[in-house]
Amino acid sequence: MKIRLADLWDGALDLQGQLAPEPYDLTVSGGEQWSPLTYRLHAEILGETELLARGVITAALTVPCARCLEPITLTVNVPEFTVSVPFTTEESIDLTPMLREDILLSLPMAPSHSDVGGHCPPQVEKLYHADADRYAEQRRSETWGALDKLNEERK
Ligand SMILES: [Zn+2]
Repeated sequence: MKIRLADLWDGALDLQGQLAPEPYDLTVSGGEQWSPLTYRLHAEILGETELLARGVITAALTVPCARCLEPITLTVNVPEFTVSVPFTTEESIDLTPMLREDILLSLPMAPSHSDVGGHCPPQVEKLYHADADRYAEQRRSETWGALDKLNEERK
C-alpha cells in the first residue's frame, strides 16, 4: 500500500479500504488462505519530513488447525498499527513491508480450534487429552520418584 505524499500536504487524510493479500507475501505454513486486508488509517505529515500513519488492520485467515488439520478461520487484528517514516524527496511511501510485519507478528504460533472458540472433532479431542493426561502423569511420577529416592537416601 502506497501513500502519495502530495495528497497529504493540504492536511491529514483518513483512508480506508481493502487490499489484496498477495503482495504481502503472508505465506505461513501451507494450506492457508487470506481474505482481503481491511484497513482504516489516519495519515499525516509531521514537520514536513515525516509521514505518520496510524490505524487498524484486520483480515481473516483460513488455516489447518494445528491439532486436527481441519480448516479454521482466524481473525487477524492489528488494533494499533503505527508507523512514522522520515522522507526527503520521495513522492510516495510504501507501507507494505510495515503492514506485513505487523500482521505476521499478530498471528498465533500454532492456531487450533481452541483459538477460535471451537472444538476439534471428538476423536481428536479425546486423543489430545489422553496424551496431555499421560504426559502429566509421567511428569508427576518423575517428580515424586525423585523425591521418593531422596527420602530413601536420607533414611
Ligand atoms: Zn481442530
